[in-house]
Amino acid sequence: MKKHARVYHGDKGKKKTTHFKESKQPAWKKELKEIETVTSEYDVLEADDKLDITRFDDIPLSKRTRRGLEESKFYEPTLIQREGIPLGLCGQDILGAAKTGSGKTLAFLIPVLEKLWRERWSSLDGLGALLVSPTRELAYQTFEVLRKVGKYHDFSGGLVIGGKDLKVEQNHILRTNIVVCTPGRLLQHMDETPNFDCGNLKILVLDEADRILDLGFKTAMNAIIENLPMDRQTLLYSATQTKSVQDLARLSLKNPKYISTYEMSATITPKQLAQSYIVCELPQKLCVLYSFLHNHTKSKTIVFFSSCKQVKFTYEAFRRLRPGVPLMALYGKQKQLRRVAIYNDFCSREFAVLFCTDIAARGLDFPAVHWVVQADCPEDANTYVHRAGRTARFEKDGQALLFLLPSEEEKFVEQLQAKKVPINKIEVNPKKLQPIQGKLEAFCAQDGEMKHWAQKSFISYVRSVYLQSNKEVFNVHLLPMNEYALSLGLVQPPKVRFLQKAKKKFTTRDSDVDSDVDLVAEDVESETDETKMGTTSFNFRQDEKQTEDEDFLTLKKTVYPTGDIVEDSTNETRKRKMSSKISQAKKLVNKKLKLNTHVVFDDGDHLADKDEHDSESDFEGGIDVSKVKQVMKKRDKDDKKIERERVRSLHKAKRLKSKPKPKKVADDSDDQEVSVRLSNVEKEESSDTDNNYIEDEQLALHLLTST
Ligand code: ADP
Ligand code: MG
Repeated sequence: MKKHARVYHGDKGKKKTTHFKESKQPAWKKELKEIETVTSEYDVLEADDKLDITRFDDIPLSKRTRRGLEESKFYEPTLIQREGIPLGLCGQDILGAAKTGSGKTLAFLIPVLEKLWRERWSSLDGLGALLVSPTRELAYQTFEVLRKVGKYHDFSGGLVIGGKDLKVEQNHILRTNIVVCTPGRLLQHMDETPNFDCGNLKILVLDEADRILDLGFKTAMNAIIENLPMDRQTLLYSATQTKSVQDLARLSLKNPKYISTYEMSATITPKQLAQSYIVCELPQKLCVLYSFLHNHTKSKTIVFFSSCKQVKFTYEAFRRLRPGVPLMALYGKQKQLRRVAIYNDFCSREFAVLFCTDIAARGLDFPAVHWVVQADCPEDANTYVHRAGRTARFEKDGQALLFLLPSEEEKFVEQLQAKKVPINKIEVNPKKLQPIQGKLEAFCAQDGEMKHWAQKSFISYVRSVYLQSNKEVFNVHLLPMNEYALSLGLVQPPKVRFLQKAKKKFTTRDSDVDSDVDLVAEDVESETDETKMGTTSFNFRQDEKQTEDEDFLTLKKTVYPTGDIVEDSTNETRKRKMSSKISQAKKLVNKKLKLNTHVVFDDGDHLADKDEHDSESDFEGGIDVSKVKQVMKKRDKDDKKIERERVRSLHKAKRLKSKPKPKKVADDSDDQEVSVRLSNVEKEESSDTDNNYIEDEQLALHLLTST
C-alpha cells in the first residue's frame, strides 16, 4: 500500500486548471493503468526463453523513461543492457560485469527509474534509490545521465559529492528520492543530517562495485550498509567484478544473478582498443612522454601517474615546455569547482592532454579520447583495464600505451596475460626523442617553486613504488635515484628517509646498494651512444596522424592473452637479464646522462637541430647547463642554509620551553638538516593519495526536479 498517493500534474509538476470531463480519465488513473500494463509484461521477461530484444521499445518501460531515452538518442540497448535491464526490472539482485564503455550506466539507471515509478514514489517518501560511485567525477557524470534519461519522471534527484554548503543542502536531501553520491559524503549525511532516513530505501546501486567494496572504502561502506534496510534490491556493476563471498555477504544479496558479457569474448578489453607497452628506464620517462605528446598534437590524450604531486609537476613543467597541445591536470587535491571545470573543458576539446591520477581511472566517459598513456605502471591488471578503458568506448577506436620499467616488465606482462589483455611490445624511435632535462634543470634553477614541485614529485613517485603491495613487480631498491632526480631537473636527489630505513633492511645485496650511489655519481658524465641520440635527433614534428606512430613507435612483439609471445621479425629483441644492482646502475649511467652539454631551442620552443658542442654564443634561450648547475648548486646551498637556520630557531624555541630538550640537534650536519626538511615533505606527502580526497568533501546537492 502506498503511503502517499499522488496526482500527476504533467511533466513539470505544475498544477493545471482543467475542466472536469467525465470522458477523460484523470492523469493519475492513467498512470496507474500504465503501471499495471507495463508490470504485467514482466512475466515475459522472467520466462526462460528470453524476449528478443533489439530496441528499447522491446522492453516494457514507462512512457516517461522511453521519452527520456529517445531524447537522449538511445534506441538500441547494448549487450549488458539487454541482459541487465530485464533482470533489474524483475527485482533481481545483480552482479553485472561488462567491458569498459559498454553501457553499464543505463543498465542500472533504467531499473532504478522504473522501480520508483512503479511504486509511485514522491518527495514525501524520501530516499528511494542510492547510487554510489567511487569518485566525484563519476558521480557527476552518472547524475547527468540520470538527469537526461529521467527528465520526464516526477521524482527528485540529488548529487552528494561535496563543494557546497552542508546546511543548505541538508534540507534538500530530506526530500530527495534518488541520491547519487560518493561514500564519504553520504556517510557524513548519515551522521550529521537530522532526520535523514534511509529506512525506506528500495534499491542500492554500486557502480565500479569492486572498487567501492575494496579496502579504501571498507569502513565507510560498512557504516553505510548498516543504515540501509535489508529488504531492498541491490545492483553491482563493474568491468572487473567482485565475486568475493565476503563482499557479497556484507551486502546481504539475495540469490544474486551473475551477468557477464565476457563469456562471449576472448579478451577483457574492448576489441577496438589497440594496446601496447614500451620498456623505458625511469630517467627517460619524462623525455619519452614529452616526445610522445609533442608527436601527437592532433590527439586527445589522457596520461596517468601514480600521485598528485607527479601530475602537478609534470603539468607545470610541460606547460613551460609548450608541446603544442593544450594541457590540463586533474587530481584529488584540486578544489571541487576547478575539478568540474577541468573535467568539462577536457570533455569539450578535440585535441588536448589530461594529466591525472587514478581518480580518472574508473568510469569516466570523456568523449573521443584517442590515447591513454599510463606513464607509471598501475598497481594491478584491473587498474590497467580501467585506465585503458577511458578510450575505445562504445564502439569507437582507441589506443593505450603503457610505460614499464625494465624491472616491472616480466611480472606485469604476466599479470596482463592472465587477465586476457592483448598487448604489443613496441619501441620508441630514439631519433625522435626530445631531450628536456636541460630545460627542466633551468626551470628548477630559475624558479624555486618548480624545484619544490620536482622534489615533491620525486618523493611521491618513490613513495608510491615503495607502498605498492605487489613486490614482484615493484622494487623501490632498483630505482636509479640520482639519474631520476637529474631527469626532473634536480641536481641531487632529495633524501627520502623511509627509503634509507628500508634500504638497511634490504640485506640481500647490501654492498651493491651502497656502491650504486658512488658509481652513478662518478660516471654520470660519461658519453654513450644513447646520450648522443638524445641530443642530436630531435628535428621532428609530425601532426599527420596516419604516419606519426609508424615513425615514433615500432612493433617489437605481440603478447596474446594465452601467454604466447610472437617476436616481431623486423626488430631484434634484446634479451634482458636480471642484472645486479651494480650492472644496472652502470647501464643507466652509460645510457643517457651527459651534463654540461648545451641545448638549443628555436623560436617555437623546440630543440633546434644543432650539435651539442655548439658554442655558448649560439644560445638563444639563455640556457647554459653548466651555468645552471652552478646556480642550482648555489641555490641548494642557500636553501640548506635557510633550512638550517629554521631548524635551529625551531629547536631554540623548543629549548626555551619548560620541557628539557631530550637531544641537541647537531648544528651543521648536512644529513640531519636535510632529513628534517624531508620529514616535513614526507608528512605532507602522506596525504597524497586520492583515496583521501573524499574525506574533505562537503555536500553538494542539486535537485533534479522538485515535486
Ligand atoms: P560503462 O559504464 O560500461 O563503462 P557507459 O555507461 O559510461 O559505459 O557508456 C559508454 C558510452 O556508451 C556512453 O557515451 C554512453 O552514452 C554510450 N551508450 C551507452 N548505452 C548506449 C546505447 N544503448 N546506445 C548508444 N550509446 C550508448
Ligand atoms: Mg561505468
